[in-house]
Amino acid sequence: MSTGYEPVVEIEQDAEARYEAGGAYKRPIRLVRGAGAVVFDDRGNEYIDCVGGIAVANVGHANPRVVAAITQQAARLITCPELFYNDVRAAYLERLVAALPAGMNRVFLCNSGTEAIEAAIKFARLTTGRTEIMAAMRGFHGRTLGALSATWEKSYRAPFEPLVPDYQHVRYNDPAALEAVISDRTAAVMLEVVQGESGVRPADPAYLQAAARLCQERGALLIVDEVQTGFGRTGRMWACEHAGILPDLLCLAKGIAGGVPMGAACLGPRVQSMPPGLHSSTFGGNPLACAAAIATLDELVERRLPERAAILGTHLLERLRALAASSPVIREVRGLGLLLGIELREHVQPYLKALAGRGVLALTAGPSVIRLAPPLVIEDAQLEQVAAALEEALR
Ligand code: PLP
Repeated sequence: MSTGYEPVVEIEQDAEARYEAGGAYKRPIRLVRGAGAVVFDDRGNEYIDCVGGIAVANVGHANPRVVAAITQQAARLITCPELFYNDVRAAYLERLVAALPAGMNRVFLCNSGTEAIEAAIKFARLTTGRTEIMAAMRGFHGRTLGALSATWEKSYRAPFEPLVPDYQHVRYNDPAALEAVISDRTAAVMLEVVQGESGVRPADPAYLQAAARLCQERGALLIVDEVQTGFGRTGRMWACEHAGILPDLLCLAKGIAGGVPMGAACLGPRVQSMPPGLHSSTFGGNPLACAAAIATLDELVERRLPERAAILGTHLLERLRALAASSPVIREVRGLGLLLGIELREHVQPYLKALAGRGVLALTAGPSVIRLAPPLVIEDAQLEQVAAALEEALR
């Protein structure tokens, strides 16, 4: 059987290769189906999916509850703008607010992570009357212009300059650096709890606590970007719980609706609601996405998937740390829950290929980090296969 990783002429001539406008590094695999933690390509190869739709498929691919919810809702009402009330949107907001950190009880629904970030920036500027956004070095917040302005990586930003004015980047995990820069001009500090795209780098709880305290003291808002870490990924429903902090704005997307595009900017008590007409989205909070999101949240809570992520993640981290001790290739292993990074002393691409050949798909997080973000429903035996494949590929 092929590994699915040899480029095939067929794929090079694929309509995607011919007609897409670019933007992504593509791998020569055509995925056609998924179930739980597994995806299948068009040649019958099966992979344990530690890409997970890029940390999206927390409740598993084709989760039966999500599929049923979408199917039923599609036959009732797919679209309903925020101009009207809608039963499913109301039901979702009630469920989401009950699950959010204490005091967060208003939500702007949108369609992606970058839109949740854009909304949070607007809420922060509107509430504080200030303009400066303080983001972190190595942070990633999305690709639209406001979010890109907060993203650190120069190669993502440079071709599109000039970006939105009044953004700064400050050293991550350095409370003194924050202390030095937050001023009466600062509208918001924007941070990830684990920097995902730039290498899977968890924040120290003390750093996040300092950020929350400084924002309170100086009249700035704390925007916590949990687009990647939310919905159980790190072993808690929200990664900010690990540090015991309450964000002013919490940005969510990725795992929110079982793979259906959706995002949310959630507001704490210090944030002003948006007056009518100042911000909205045609598709935001559509009933189809809301139905999928209810099913997803129910799955996460009833199956205790955040707890499962904590247990499995701790186990895998220990295995990987033991592997690191005997592998000359591994520099460091990091992570929280089922968001794990293996930093290599070499480029990751050959190792991703070797893993795919062993039936495991993994992500990168920068040139030298293998990122693992499997569905939280991954079975023990599947996780064992992942650990064995990593041991074979990296030893
Ligand atoms: N914020 C973080 C932390 C992310 O990881 C991402 C995407 O990877 C985004 C924002 C942007 O989300 P989206 O790709 O849904 O626009």
